[in-house]
Parts: sequence; structure tokens; C-alpha cells
Amino acid sequence: MELWYTEKQTEHYGITAQITETLVREQTQFQDLAIIDTIEFGRMLVLDGMVMTTEKDEWVYHEMVAHPALFTHPNPKHVLIVGGGDGGVVREVMKHKAVEKAVLVDIDGKVIEYSKKFLPSIAAELDNPRVEVIVNDGFMHIHDHKNTYDVIMVDSTEPVGPAVELFTRGFYQGIFESLKEDGIFVAQTDNPWFKADLIRTVNRDVREIFPIVRVYCANIPTYPSGLWTFTMGSKKADPLEVDEKQIPELDTKYYSPRLHKAAFALPKFVEDLIK
Ligand code: SAM
Repeated sequence: MELWYTEKQTEHYGITAQITETLVREQTQFQDLAIIDTIEFGRMLVLDGMVMTTEKDEWVYHEMVAHPALFTHPNPKHVLIVGGGDGGVVREVMKHKAVEKAVLVDIDGKVIEYSKKFLPSIAAELDNPRVEVIVNDGFMHIHDHKNTYDVIMVDSTEPVGPAVELFTRGFYQGIFESLKEDGIFVAQTDNPWFKADLIRTVNRDVREIFPIVRVYCANIPTYPSGLWTFTMGSKKADPLEVDEKQIPELDTKYYSPRLHKAAFALPKFVEDLIK
């Protein structure tokens, strides 16, 4: 008998993956957590029925959350990751030797625990001495840490459950205040096919707070629609003014110095969303 996992990405559309095993399934204090083994994409972390990350395509998202901001900031030493309990983003941050400390704040310790156990290639740097892992609400953390971080990355779930507050204007204001005077923040801001309103609203809110706001895209096969957006807010540095010849080649598979600016060239229907 074949077993398939289907993620409904809208009421009327979804993706489905043939699975071989359910490695863990638990209702944590915050969400329905599962790690399943799929034939096409390897092991897959699923939270509240939504694909979070897979062994096969995880590096696209994790590289594109981390590297554009870290190569835009002139000297990122102190980085905050809100969410990101699977460890993928912080693994990419650790490739930047100038980063002295990366603080990861995820509300659900079970995501961290099970990612370490079942997704070792993604969770590889969670025990790095330059990483501090805190189990807490990211919203609370930023309000308790004013003028602290050079770069803040929001690697949260979609705006449901504990992540709803991570897509509010108040949260972006809190991020602004938690950043230093030349700070940069980046958030995953979903897909333009099914979540156009979210992208439009976030862009409007962030533009009211940050002087420089840029949106960029990446292709993530297992995320809804496959076309993913990221929104960057910066107090001083503009990602489009980075000299890509100054960007070193890192051990990456999606991000590159050549892609740094190209990622900000948006399909016209996405440009129109954020006009
Ligand atoms: N890459 C995924 C995506 O784009 O949907 C996100 C991956 S990561 C596993 C998402 C994390 O956000 C989860 O581990 C979840 O526990 C965490 N999270 C949700 N709400 C949060 C909050 N208020 N504070 C901190 N972490 C939160």
C-alpha cells in the first residue's frame, strides 16, 4: 500500500509526497509537529500540516534568508534569528566568520530537539559555541533587547498560531528598536500566488518603519506555489548598492555573488504588488 502526505496550500490546491516512514509525530505546546521520510525530498519537517523544510531543498531558503542581509551589512557581529528552530538559517550564518554571536529564539523547544535528532544536516550548527539557543517567544525577546543586533532574521512559520504576531506592524517596530543604528532585518514573506495580500501588507508596514525596503525572490519547490519572497528592511545599507565583486564565494548551492542583486529583480506581477 502506498502512503502519501498531502499539504493543502489553499482550500482547493496542494502538493502530495509519497512517504516511507513517520519518524515522529507530536502535539507540542504550540503546534502539531511531524518529521516524515519522503521518497522525493528526503526527511521533511511539517508543522501544523505545513512543510517547513526538507533535506533535498532546504538550502535554497536557508541561504536566501541568511546571505543577502549578511553581505549587505558592513560588519555583522551580533545576529538574531526569530524562529528557525530547525537550525538551517543559523548553519548558514555560521559560514560568516565575522559573526561573533548568533542568538536563535524559537518558541518551541521540541522543534529544536527533534531537528537535532532527525535532521542532523540542517541542525548541524545548533551546538556551535558562537550560537546561543533560547526557547522563548521572539516577540518578547526583541522587546527585551533594544539596540542590540546588527541583523535580525525572521524565520517563522506562516502567520498562524504562535507566529501570527510575527507579521504585525508592532513586531516590525520592535525589530527596528532591537536593531542597532545601521541594522538590517529580513523576513520570509510567503508567496505572491496565494498570499499577495500578506506581501502587500507587510511591505506597507515595513516601509512605514524602515528607510530602505527591498523584496527578493527564490524558487523553493516544496513551498506553496514554489515562488517565495523575502522582505528586507534596512536602516542604512542598501542591498542593491553592494559591490558583488566584494562578496566572497561561500560554500553555497543557491546564493552566489552573481545572484545577490539578481534576486531583487522581481517578476512584474510581484513588482505591482508592492508598488
Ligand atoms: N522555513 C519555514 C517557513 O518558511 O515556514 C520556517 C521554519 S522554522 C521551523 C519556523 C519556526 O518558527 C518554528 O520552529 C516555530 O516554532 C517558530 N515560531 C513560531 N512562532 C514563533 C514565535 N512567536 N517566536 C519564536 N519562534 C516562533
